[in-house]
Amino acid sequence: DLRVRGISSAIRVVPNFPKPGIMFQDITTLLLDPKAFRDAIDIFVDRYKDKEISVVAGIEARGFLFGPPIALAIGAKFVPMRKPRKLPGEVIAEEYVLEYGKDRLEMHVGAVQPGERALIVDDLIATGGTLCAAIKLLERAGAEVVECACVIELPELKGRGKLDGKALYILVESR
Ligand code: IMP
Repeated sequence: DLRVRGISSAIRVVPNFPKPGIMFQDITTLLLDPKAFRDAIDIFVDRYKDKEISVVAGIEARGFLFGPPIALAIGAKFVPMRKPRKLPGEVIAEEYVLEYGKDRLEMHVGAVQPGERALIVDDLIATGGTLCAAIKLLERAGAEVVECACVIELPELKGRGKLDGKALYILVESR
């Protein structure tokens, strides 16, 4: 797909951000390119429009940039998976391990009903810990996770293997 090449070249790689040794994949430059941004959304929408998905769950913060346009186009609701203490209502939470310390994702109780078919969206999968927590939250709410979708995968970190057998769809591999 020629579009993928355009998407890939619209993503900026920033060496040594946020700390030495990290090659940060910056999707803000993809958002600056309306053609590449639209192509990315279109590819996801083509893949998911006929899969009877009723929930698109986006992960804070960059999953909030890609999830809503996909949700609107496929006629699904959008559910934010947020960092701790951001959501005002009653929440369920899942902790996950980071390189240094822990973090937590929260989701509103009642946002997802048992039996719903869910797609999880984020910008990037590294170790897979974040997506794994998102899968657990949706499954605790009784939803079926159909697939996880990210713009970028860092394959060397083998995050795919942490997804409990769930399918992962990506647009671009990076290193
Ligand atoms: P994981 O939990 O190790 O898979 O890390 C994935 C999470 O970290 C996602 O929510 C990403 O937004 C974020 N992340 C890690 N590395 C990068 C990067 O290079 N660019 C953008 N986001 C990143």
